[in-house]
Amino acid sequence: MSSHIKKPAVAQKHPGSAAPELKQSLVEHLTYVVGKDVLTATDRDWFFTAAYVARDRLTGRWMETMQNYYARDAKRVYYFSMEFLMGRTLVNNLLNLGFEQEYREVLAELGVNWDKVRKIEDDAGLGNGGLGRLAACFLDSLATLDLPGYGYGIRYEYGMFRQRIENGRQVEHPDNWLRYGNPWEFPRAEVLYQVKFHGHVVKYSDEHGVERSHWVATDDVMAMAYDTPIPGYGTHTVNNMRLWAAKATRDFDLRYFNEGNYIKAVEDKNESENLSKVLYPDDTTAMGRELRLKQQYFFVCASLQDVLRRYEKFHDDFDALPDKVAIQLNDTHPSIAIAELMRILVDVRHLEWDKAWNLTTRTFAYTNHTLMPEALESWPVAMFENILPRHLQIIYEINQRFLQDVMHRYPGDPAMLRRMSLIDEDGGKSVRMAHLAIVGSHKVNGVARIHTELMKQTIFADFDRFYPGKIVNMTNGITPRRWLNQANPLLAELISSRIGDDWKKDLDQLKRLIPLADDAAFRAEFAAVKRANKERLARSLKHQLGFEADPDSLFDMQIKRIHEYKRQLLNLLHVVTLYNRIRHDPDADHVPRTVIFGGKAAPGYFMAKLTIKLINDVADIVNNDPHVADRLKVVFVPNYDVSTAEELIPAADLSEQISTAGTEASGTGNMKLAMNGALTIGTLDGANIEIRDAVGEDNIFIFGLTAEDVTRVRTAGYRPWDYCQANVELREVLDMIGSGYFSADDPDRFKPVVDTLLRYGDYFLLLADYASYIDSQKQVENAYRDQGQWMKKAILNVANMGRFSSDRTVMQYADEIWDVRQMASPE
Ligand SMILES: *Cc1c(COP(=O)(O)O)cnc(C)c1O
Repeated sequence: MSSHIKKPAVAQKHPGSAAPELKQSLVEHLTYVVGKDVLTATDRDWFFTAAYVARDRLTGRWMETMQNYYARDAKRVYYFSMEFLMGRTLVNNLLNLGFEQEYREVLAELGVNWDKVRKIEDDAGLGNGGLGRLAACFLDSLATLDLPGYGYGIRYEYGMFRQRIENGRQVEHPDNWLRYGNPWEFPRAEVLYQVKFHGHVVKYSDEHGVERSHWVATDDVMAMAYDTPIPGYGTHTVNNMRLWAAKATRDFDLRYFNEGNYIKAVEDKNESENLSKVLYPDDTTAMGRELRLKQQYFFVCASLQDVLRRYEKFHDDFDALPDKVAIQLNDTHPSIAIAELMRILVDVRHLEWDKAWNLTTRTFAYTNHTLMPEALESWPVAMFENILPRHLQIIYEINQRFLQDVMHRYPGDPAMLRRMSLIDEDGGKSVRMAHLAIVGSHKVNGVARIHTELMKQTIFADFDRFYPGKIVNMTNGITPRRWLNQANPLLAELISSRIGDDWKKDLDQLKRLIPLADDAAFRAEFAAVKRANKERLARSLKHQLGFEADPDSLFDMQIKRIHEYKRQLLNLLHVVTLYNRIRHDPDADHVPRTVIFGGKAAPGYFMAKLTIKLINDVADIVNNDPHVADRLKVVFVPNYDVSTAEELIPAADLSEQISTAGTEASGTGNMKLAMNGALTIGTLDGANIEIRDAVGEDNIFIFGLTAEDVTRVRTAGYRPWDYCQANVELREVLDMIGSGYFSADDPDRFKPVVDTLLRYGDYFLLLADYASYIDSQKQVENAYRDQGQWMKKAILNVANMGRFSSDRTVMQYADEIWDVRQMASPE
């Protein structure tokens, strides 16, 4: 299949990869590691067997890679992220190692059903959505590019909840992903760091009369490392992801044991181990919860100790820290690291403040992921002081010095000082983590061109003026290994048959497909691949949900977290509009459509959960209406996660990217779908704009208000009623939803939906964009009628998506932010 499998270097260096040895190795592992024989082995036994054998083949390269970084004292980049949405690992690792085909063949000889075995693996769902998946794509690119990059995060015992749909509503179930064990991780019982909380600060004068601070009387927790090897594609580089689990301090029990209170001692142990118990399942509202702040400090504190330990093996002062260490903060979640590094350098290592600050700011860089005020983290000062008293003092000190500088530059502007302060003095005082992250970093990046521009013009305009050039753009990307090669093997094979398979490491090679867009034979093969992927999905939907999808219909997909700004509701307004058009004019030539939704709602997000119910209630009516006669169908695919995404995306014809302009920082789902030959219907928001520039405006359906329009409309006083009055179809749709057409058992169920639009101001401007969206959907239909032209557009989408490889993104970070170099891959 892929050419690197044939590379003799791989096969010779790792003799186990020759088929007979692989078979022997599998049987041995089944026997001696899993403790089963071929007769009694279950699919799960075979999964663990395959995983252990694959892991064995990684570990040598992994150690060589680490030794190589060590021997060269390479500058490393540390990606600090609360979330890593990795999905499954087995097939990814086999493809990266070049062993996948061989495994399939050998396991087939052993009578094992590979398709079932690979699906046994639980997704590692340690993330909410785009932000966590970005971290996972970056790890793949770092390793593939032979860059010395480490992921640091939290080993949640429970990841993102599993979503089930019961009576059309979301029900959350715990994600007990470690239940059967995780074959990819190596527990490192000896890599253990102390993390302190609470207590108070004691000031004292040292022997030189300098005032020093001591953080004492703390409650402590231990952080224990779990390492996961991250292999690159077609290289011997294997990087490391280190996740921390909370463990009770070893002496936790002494006090209580001495008092004879065994139960209390064990309870306390559990309490401290709760720190890494569960991922917060809300990615768009920053809840000021104590446990969340503790999780943040917990992993940052352990990670920094680990980073400095590694640095100090080679260096006996900190002067070279920024030349050897780059730390990327994935959103503000880990930004307490700035105060923590200052604490270590000043309080523990006794560096002068200015020197410590210089080193700190040259070490950190911060990625902003959102402009939405409710997502910007700010911690109540009182809570902060209780949990991290010394860090609050350090933040005050940073702030005082920073505001001095601002005052010097802009004298007599107290309003500006108030705006830029790290402390929000309005209401209850709180710490603005984004301001700490900006002031404490040498670079701040947005994740798409428009997002970076809006950052500079709106929420961070003062900072952009104060620090010209600090805010830069790094448009997101996705790894083509998982999102094309692995998710869509048929398309990958077709592409490789025409242009070879260098595209897997150099995605700009896809440009060589451009001339083939006019080649009728290629178009037919491309159409056959899409058709096969749609059939595969249809079989799966039938099997899982009993849902009948016609592969000849247009597969229209909106798969992403459910959120008002992403406007699943606008999509539904279109669905109901289509439904009415079919009902009112059943004999017209309607293009058959299957509208597919998937996505999780934050458990406490009422409107998002109601949207899921509405999707399911609309589906119930539409799918069972004989007048519709299968020309319109709606389905909600439960539990959208990485593995579901891999199954859905190759089958999409149409990609819904319809957020209110100015709200979606980048999006990466948009990239995955376009890279798999879906055409985008979207607003000029996030990376949609850059996708349009890349694929050409003839090959994308753009509609709606621009970000500037949105500001203008809101400023002028938006009146959603006017749009409703002016549009008969819209009025009918809203009447139906509001009056119980889709909820006869509870006619008022969806009144809050309509009220949000008509009474409470329609903040996300659905009604303003409705007519334009409906019109654009009509153009989609017309385009879809001409399958030849549609396939041409789809091919041109794939061919022009090279820029959206996370390899491009990561190289840009490496060159413009981290200053880290590609290493020679170990041989
Ligand atoms: C890519 C991805 C996302 C992000 O999707 P957007 O459409 O960019 O919001 C969310 N969840 C999963 C499982 C993904 O793979």
